[in-house]
Amino acid sequence: MTTIFPVEKQCAHCGRHSEHIVIGSTNTFGSPDLDTRPPEMMRSTIPHWVQRCPHCGYCNSDLDHLLPTAGQVMSSEAYRDQLVERTLPTLANSFLCLSIILAAQGEFTRAGWSSLHAAWVCDDERAAQGALHCRQRAASLFQEALASGQMIARQADASDALLVDVLRRSLQFPLALSLCEDGLRKHSDEIIKGVLTFQKLLIQRQDSGCYTVAQALGNA
Ligand SMILES: [Zn+2]
Repeated sequence: MTTIFPVEKQCAHCGRHSEHIVIGSTNTFGSPDLDTRPPEMMRSTIPHWVQRCPHCGYCNSDLDHLLPTAGQVMSSEAYRDQLVERTLPTLANSFLCLSIILAAQGEFTRAGWSSLHAAWVCDDERAAQGALHCRQRAASLFQEALASGQMIARQADASDALLVDVLRRSLQFPLALSLCEDGLRKHSDEIIKGVLTFQKLLIQRQDSGCYTVAQALGNA
């Protein structure tokens, strides 16, 4: 089961206080999605993965901590606009604002993950265009991360499998196929190969839907 509780946080940017929900514990049962999104009950804890200061709009996974570029980025038009972007769910905007701060300080991997989290929020809210936008941003940031030598997953083969899924689900089929075929040539892990083989079929069908790892491996 999931346990959550309210805590008062002091915003590291403006110094003012607000109440937020933090996760005490949670669990997962079942298979993650191909982009690693966890199954329930952890899946439903996503509203508590990012905190937004109601006074100044600072967004971070923990408002107590100040990201070095926050002050500069938060005064930008891009950040202020993102906070109140009406075409996206508020929670997705919070994840994207965090992503903007992280990208500004060169943390492309974490920025990519925050954008992917925003996409998951859009999926849940059936905001298809929003999800597409967030995944395109995530794919671009993950590519930037890899180009600058940052890992986006613990292993290189898992990194490739993740990026293939984000590219496929953001309709970038030719690039997804190229990376998928490259991964199939390079990697020997049986699970990764099974996932990439399944991805290749989806890409060839131009299927941008959500599938689990268990479905990819024929266990669902
Ligand atoms: Zn604040």
